[in-house]
Amino acid sequence: MDKHPVNHYKYCPRCAAKGIFNAHELAFKCNACGFEFYINASAAVAALIENDRGELLLARRGVNPHKGKLDLPGGFVDALESAEQAVMREIKEELDVEPDRIEYFGSFPNEYDFSGTIVYTVDLAFKCTVSNFSTLKYRDDIEGIVFIKPEKIDFGEVAFHSIKKIIQKFQNEQHNRK
Ligand SMILES: [Zn+2]
Repeated sequence: MDKHPVNHYKYCPRCAAKGIFNAHELAFKCNACGFEFYINASAAVAALIENDRGELLLARRGVNPHKGKLDLPGGFVDALESAEQAVMREIKEELDVEPDRIEYFGSFPNEYDFSGTIVYTVDLAFKCTVSNFSTLKYRDDIEGIVFIKPEKIDFGEVAFHSIKKIIQKFQNEQHNRK
């Protein structure tokens, strides 16, 4: 089945009448009660964390989509949360370490295949400085953690388009620094 949201938003979430979904605008309108909503990009965060050998921390995904592939630590921004709060929270939850400093790196759009439909996201990447890795562990939705020299990362192993783009930009910046 086509995973485009146009195929999945048919009924009004407020009154349950059949509605009209405009695929071009990604907009839903209910003619019965007037309820409207737009499918906007959901904000997510991704963390670039290096160790003192200049290797980048990557998490091997323990859940679908892309179970077994490499990903940057991160996740969705909660309602009423800032992106900065979200990246600090996700790193603490996923890895049990606390960054000393975070620095905004850029934003990268993505299509996230979740429960049979496409969720549009914008991944906000942050460079995160962690000086103390002694408490490092990982939670159940991660199979393992690896540290890899950025230039040695195999993009065939990386889960998402946006994460590849983040790592590419990071590689380029590192290359230009040398
Ligand atoms: Zn309605």
